[in-house]
Amino acid sequence: MITSNQYADLGDLFSRFTKPEKPKLPQVLLWNNILATDLGLDLSDEQKAGYFSGQQLLPGSKPTAMAYSGHQFGHFNPQLGDGRAHLLGEVIDTHKKLQEIQLKGSGRTPFSRNGDGKCGIKPAVREYIMSEAMYALGIPTTRCLSVITTGESIHRQTQTPAAVVTRIAGSHIRVGTFEYFAARSMQTEIETLVDLTIARHYPKIDKNCQSKYLKLLSQVIDKQINLIVSWMRVGFIHGVMNTDNTLLSGQTIDYGPCAMLGVYDPATVYSSIDNNGRYAFGNQANIAQWNIARLAECLLRLIHDDEQQAIDLVIPILESFPEKYNHAFNQMMANKIGFDEGHVEVNKLHQKLLSLMFKHQLDYTQTFVQLQQSLIAAESHAEINNLKIIEWHKMWQYTLKESNISHENAYQLMANNNPVVIPRNHHIEKILHQVEGDLSTKPMEAFLTVLQTPYVITKATPLYQDIAPDGDLNYQTFCGT
Ligand code: AMP
Ligand code: MG
Repeated sequence: MITSNQYADLGDLFSRFTKPEKPKLPQVLLWNNILATDLGLDLSDEQKAGYFSGQQLLPGSKPTAMAYSGHQFGHFNPQLGDGRAHLLGEVIDTHKKLQEIQLKGSGRTPFSRNGDGKCGIKPAVREYIMSEAMYALGIPTTRCLSVITTGESIHRQTQTPAAVVTRIAGSHIRVGTFEYFAARSMQTEIETLVDLTIARHYPKIDKNCQSKYLKLLSQVIDKQINLIVSWMRVGFIHGVMNTDNTLLSGQTIDYGPCAMLGVYDPATVYSSIDNNGRYAFGNQANIAQWNIARLAECLLRLIHDDEQQAIDLVIPILESFPEKYNHAFNQMMANKIGFDEGHVEVNKLHQKLLSLMFKHQLDYTQTFVQLQQSLIAAESHAEINNLKIIEWHKMWQYTLKESNISHENAYQLMANNNPVVIPRNHHIEKILHQVEGDLSTKPMEAFLTVLQTPYVITKATPLYQDIAPDGDLNYQTFCGT
């Protein structure tokens, strides 16, 4: 059960004590057995439904709503906070790591503003499927323990069943959490937050050293780069990279309007409200850097009493982002085409490939899988021909040979880096539509099983590999609540 309440214990400047609402008819819709075991939770069905709907309090909980601010689409909102989420506390998992347990959709809190504190079944299931798919793809992410329906119907565009989703995160400390205290000039609280963040996510930094703020910034950059590069590897478009959705743990959070890239185009945006393409697929690294700059601003006064001197110390760290990112990105793309590392020739190759994929409107996921297959199956050359990249293919083969990389080795590296299946948008939508209608879990479970092994073809994998009939050109996502 809950073993500590580190965040709640920081006091009510950081989070407000507030109890989840008690639903009348909670029922388990999705339960993540492996994760539950990992968290040391061995429960009866009745306990699962009771504890993770808010009907009963998990022993040891101190339920709180966290305070935070955030830059949303570039505009600062000083007062956000958990408007429909309750942090219960932390448990220690089987890897001895502290994990926070948070209910979402569990009722109103002091930060609810005009919201009802509830979550619809579709966004709850979307978060469960997407986060589990990302986890299996090897991408840092918050995870979902469960989705429990509450028996209640709530109003969204239409009436829809309500659900409580339980989220597990290394912590829920966001860039927006720092901004909340910076906006109120609360330096002591920022320092407290820095120390907690270091203890939880950057334990190698010495908390007693004045350089800790700069070290933290530098390591936050590393973690964010690792995150964004892994998104770019599989074609993940977050869709709402606001500072309140940027975790210091370096995990993906908020699966509201996210989507997977179909046809390769860096300008791809699926979110209905992202009119200017701020959060487009190819702009995600720029935004991560922008978000870290907002974090840096919160730390300035702790770094140095003299603001200009603090800025002079911070700028070189922030400016290291593009070079570090490009290095990590090139490395990742090299692996996607079978090379151990990204040197000049390999970089030219992957850049050319991306420009051809853009020109000929090729599917991001399928193209890499087809390239990989062409290394071992002669008949797949016809497919490559269809892709209109035959000249590139020759160049690629030539460079592999020149680099002394065998087809077997290239194939293996590609197989480890190119998923054969991703949670494609049209499959997600079909499943969400179904579950809203009849609460049946069979289609979700079949999909989740395939998504659990995204680098291995199983019997059922081909059922989910198809591209949307319109290539997702008309697909739109919404900030689901
Ligand atoms: P999100 O889009 O989930 O990141 O939410 C942005 C902000 O709106 C956060 O402060 C949420 O807590 C709040 N919020 C979203 N939906 C609701 C809701 N149904 N009731 C109360 N607050 C909400
Ligand atoms: Mg959010």
